[in-house]
Parts: sequence; C-alpha cells; structure tokens
Amino acid sequence: MICPKNECLECGACFAVCPINAIKMAENIYGEYLPLIDNDKCIKCNKCNKICPVINKTDYKKPLECYAAYTQNENDRNSCASGGIATAFGKQIINAGGETFGAVLNEKFSFTKAENISGLEEFKGSKYVHIPAYHIYRDIKKDLMTDKKILFIGTPCQCDALLHYIGKEYENLITVDLICHGTPPYRYLNEWIKYVTKGMYFDQITFRGKRDYYLTVYNDSKIIYSKQHNEDGYFSAFLTGLIHREPCYSCPYARIERISDITIGDFWGLPQNALNGYMGKKSVILINTTKGKNFFKTVVPNLVVEKRDITEAISGNKQLTHPASRHKKQKLFLRYYPEYGFYKALKKCGILRETLITIIKNKLMFFPRKIIRRLKNEKKQTG
Ligand SMILES: Cc1cc2nc3c(=O)[nH]c(=O)nc-3n(C[C@H](O)[C@H](O)[C@H](O)COP(=O)(O)OP(=O)(O)OC[C@H]3O[C@@H](n4cnc5c(N)ncnc54)[C@H](O)[C@@H]3O)c2cc1C
Repeated sequence: MICPKNECLECGACFAVCPINAIKMAENIYGEYLPLIDNDKCIKCNKCNKICPVINKTDYKKPLECYAAYTQNENDRNSCASGGIATAFGKQIINAGGETFGAVLNEKFSFTKAENISGLEEFKGSKYVHIPAYHIYRDIKKDLMTDKKILFIGTPCQCDALLHYIGKEYENLITVDLICHGTPPYRYLNEWIKYVTKGMYFDQITFRGKRDYYLTVYNDSKIIYSKQHNEDGYFSAFLTGLIHREPCYSCPYARIERISDITIGDFWGLPQNALNGYMGKKSVILINTTKGKNFFKTVVPNLVVEKRDITEAISGNKQLTHPASRHKKQKLFLRYYPEYGFYKALKKCGILRETLITIIKNKLMFFPRKIIRRLKNEKKQTG
C-alpha cells in the first residue's frame, strides 16, 4: 500500500501513474478496489508516492461565488438529479467541440467519455454508489495534450486524484466536483439489485430524476423494480450511513473549501421565495476559480440563475462542513457481510425490518386516502 489502508480513497491515481503497470487495483472481501504493488516488477521510481492525494498536499480553494440555479431545458429538469447543471455544463463543452467525462450506471458501473450530446444521457442522475474512475485518468491526460476542452465531473476524491495525477494546470480542463454524502462499493448494489429483481437482466438504475429518491431498475426502458428510499433496503442503508467505504466517514473533502473549479449539489437551504418561488429541484453552484467563473459565464444563458449567500448553501447541506455519520451498526455490518452477503447482513442489522414497517405504514396511510377519493367521486356522480 502507498497510503494507510483505511484512508485509501480507491482513487487509483497510483495505478494510473505507474510507468510499468506494477500496480493493480485488487478487489477485497467488501468489493473495494485497493492498490496492490507487484514488488518483483516495481522499479522504485516513487511516482505513486508523489501523487497519492492521501499523503500529498491538496490545493483547497475558498469559493468565490455561490449561485442557485436550474436548467431551462424541461426534459433535463425531469431526468437530472437536481437542477440539471452537470448536463448543461456537458452540453456547453460538447457544443464547443470538447468532451465530457462522467459516471455510468448500467451493468458496467464505470466512467466514460461523451463526445456528443446523446452520450450525456447516461451520465444524468446521481448514482449513490462508488463508480471507479481510475481507468480513464490516462485517457484524460492524453486528450489534454490536444487543444480540446475537457470537462471532468466526479466526486471530490476523484477530482482530487485526477488533479494530482495530471500534476499541472491545464487551461483546457474544467473540473466539477459533486457535494458528496459518501459512496458504498458497487458490489453491494449489484447484489441488492440481483436479489430484488430475482436476477433479471437490467440496463439502467436510477436514484433520482422524475421519481426523486426512488431506487428504480429498468430493463429496456421498462421498470422492473421501484421503491421509495425508505422502503428500499439499499437506499435506507446508504442514507443512514451503514454501508459507505471507510474513508467516507472521515472524508477530508466534506468542507467548504473545495478542490475543483466548480462545485455542484442540491440547494436545500434556499429560501422558498428564491428563484421566483420555483418549486422544482434546485442546484447550488460554488465557483471556486477564475477559470470556473469564466466557464460558468458561458453556460448562464441556458440556466435560470440567482446569486446567493454561501451561508444558505452551508445551512442546508451537512456535507459542506463534515463527513457522513457512521450508522451505529456499521461495524456489525462489516462483520456480517463477508459471511452472509449483502441481503442477510442488512437483515441482521435490522434495516429490512425498518423498511417493512415503513411499507406497512405507507400502505395504511394510502388506503383511507383511496376510500375518501372513491366516496368523493361517488358523491359527485350522484349529486
Ligand atoms: C454519491 C453521491 C452523493 C451525493 N450527496 C450529496 C449531498 O449530500 N448533498 C448535495 O447537495 N448533493 C449531493 N450529491 C450531488 C447531487 O445529488 C447531484 O448529483 C448534483 O447536484 C448534480 O445534479 P445535476 O442535476 O446537476 O446533475 P445531472 O445533470 O443529473 O448529472 C449527474 C452528474 O453526476 C455524475 N455522477 C453521478 N453519480 C456519480 C457517482 N457515483 N460518482 C461520480 N460521478 C457521478 C454524473 O457523471 C453526471 O455528470 C451527491 C451525488 C452523489 C453521486
């Protein structure tokens, strides 16, 4: 290992920088991918130690400006995670002949490159899971040598890893980090989806979008599973901090100083009368560098935007001041998982009991409403 094992971000900057491919990302019993050095191959060049974001200094920036915004594109507003800002940024870069890198959550769980607008579709929505990005750092560095504009959107640890790996300022690179609540290994989600769909083939998973805070699984655009966040085992375990990777509980990026040109997230602390009282999903945008500010100006014509005080963003968003809290049974979950697998480990931690109680409560609340609606209809028809 290059950094202490329990602090490793799984960012894979070391994997990408190794000139003789002596480092591989090896999966452990929790589905985490940690670097493994082949000591027979290693030439002791020390490059991995020099770029690891855990053991080297990170360049934190105080945000210059704060905005509340949403995209003017109605279709994007329905299908994006919050205000559709990431998609609006991606479109701007692609229309200028550039390329956007983002996370995809189909059967692949990976980062890819979009070179046309349709390629951005797969990036839309928040995927509440760790999606490895280390496979594409080398491609980004290669593409940066051309004059193409490049946009990289990812979690703060992924942005920081990329910046350490490329090692110098590139005028044609814009980095955008998401305010992040933590990310579980994707093996957990994979096991959960297999369980709830009884092993059916799936090609898309969403957590946000038109059905906000629902875990929805699709096969060829047809819904094969959909549950509200507190009725679903995986979603509940994610939101209550049971299943994050270890470094997420002490995440160094969960602070107001940022590492990328721009930061985006949900604007939960926004007063109701802001943005002319708009009731839909709203994004917070923190502009952290002059490069970010210049780029943002070019996107503004496609957005509805309002300058806001940064204290509003902080007041509604815990992850701008401290990392996600650890669930009291998190250590227990780690003990159960290797022996029992994801479903049984959740069950033993009491999560599935909680979701079942919520399902029953929601059903009990739904039936009286249904009866009242029917009685009202009957009254209308007779009177
Ligand atoms: C794991 C996670 C936790 C989050 N926690 C918070 C939070 O606590 N507070 C908050 O304000 N906001 C949080 N967000 C951010 C928020 O949910 C939205 O993603 C963000 O506001 C962008 O919305 P959008 O409509 O502009 O993005 P869209 O236009 O819908 O595009 C989504 C963008 O996010 C990227 N992305 C999605 N999932 C991942 C992933 N797992 N890893 C890397 N990149 C990804 C996509 O590649 C794409 O570029 C979180 C996001 C994620 C992925």
